[in-house]
Amino acid sequence: MALIVQKYGGTSVGDVNRIKSVAQRVKETYAAGNQVIVVVSARSGVTNELIGRAKSLNPDPDDREMDLLLTVGEQETIALTAMALHALGVPAVSRTGKEAGILTDLAHTRARITSISGGDIKDQLDAGKVVILAGFQGYSPDGQITTLGRGGSDLSAIAISAALNADICQIYTDVDGVYTADPRVVEHASKLSEIAYEEMLELASSGSKVMQNRAVEFAQKFDVVFEVRSSFNNNPGTIVKEEAASMEDVVVSGVALDKNQAKVVVSDLPDHPGTAAELFNALADAGISVDMIVQNIGREGKANMTFTVPRDAINRAEKTVVELFPDEAQGKLFEASDIAKVSVVGVGMRTHTGVAAKLFAALAQAGVNIQLVSTSEIKIAVGIDPKDAEQATRIVHDAFDLGVESS
Ligand code: ASP
Ligand code: MG
Repeated sequence: MALIVQKYGGTSVGDVNRIKSVAQRVKETYAAGNQVIVVVSARSGVTNELIGRAKSLNPDPDDREMDLLLTVGEQETIALTAMALHALGVPAVSRTGKEAGILTDLAHTRARITSISGGDIKDQLDAGKVVILAGFQGYSPDGQITTLGRGGSDLSAIAISAALNADICQIYTDVDGVYTADPRVVEHASKLSEIAYEEMLELASSGSKVMQNRAVEFAQKFDVVFEVRSSFNNNPGTIVKEEAASMEDVVVSGVALDKNQAKVVVSDLPDHPGTAAELFNALADAGISVDMIVQNIGREGKANMTFTVPRDAINRAEKTVVELFPDEAQGKLFEASDIAKVSVVGVGMRTHTGVAAKLFAALAQAGVNIQLVSTSEIKIAVGIDPKDAEQATRIVHDAFDLGVESS
């Protein structure tokens, strides 16, 4: 008898018919003789709707009240899922995050899990029940309801899998797994049968987000192997696990495209030690994540700094820069333009050379100009004109022969 955790995202429980088909799948897993914990999100759109309602009443709603409000979404789906299972004759019981003993810190709306007791989940499973657990929620040491950040149901599922030592953790979503590229951009993108945690994290931060990053980091830390698969069919998904030697045979696992970036040029900065520290400290303090950075060679005591930020952070970035360097605040100190980032990711890069050369050659042949480059041990990213972005993604995908099942 295996202990299986199945997590269903918002679209998988999007309406009562979807909840019925989730119940059917759970019933089959249960009937095959397994213990099953089902973790559910709110119906898709509900969390956003609740946030919208809160902000229409108060542009800066209180975080504690916000958590109380947002957990309503998951509370609806656990109860409905339990009822749907009862209708199929499956004994099931729902549990909130607090009932499951998911203890967090005090940081409302972005709490971190500190421990999980499991509450009476084990007892319920041993008594033959399916347990439906509300994703996204926990409670703080002073007994308040907390939430785990947007997309936090993924984290709930991974964390309960780790705490109760589940045999399998399945993350059911609306895509078949992790692909070599976004299938909407690259028609013949292929599904990866397995991928390393680190590749998954790099792909997500490069624009191919399938799951909450914190959940993947948690899985990596506690060695929780999980599968990303679709609740809309029975296709096998993608297994996400620790890097294995065999994975290194595949040099590039995927190509990610992020069209929501902006390139910022801050010109005529004083070219002396400490300027970069000051600039990037201020941006970090403003909560702006900076990705690619290039500094040109200084001339006459002045230098330009070029970097990328998420497009929706441009105004905050400009305000931060202008406040920091008020004297130079006239004229061309701060310039921003849209940029797209195409990244190739693969743990095989650790042991193979020539990846950058191949990437640059493919782009050159297609006449795509590279504005910025950044690299890590397992990633090379280029910043290019957004109008070239989709074509470049397809060209790079082809250059690395990703259009076939690649692992
Ligand atoms: N309902 C929450 C959200 O939309 C948690 C989740 O779906 O994972 O962020
Ligand atoms: Mg979700």
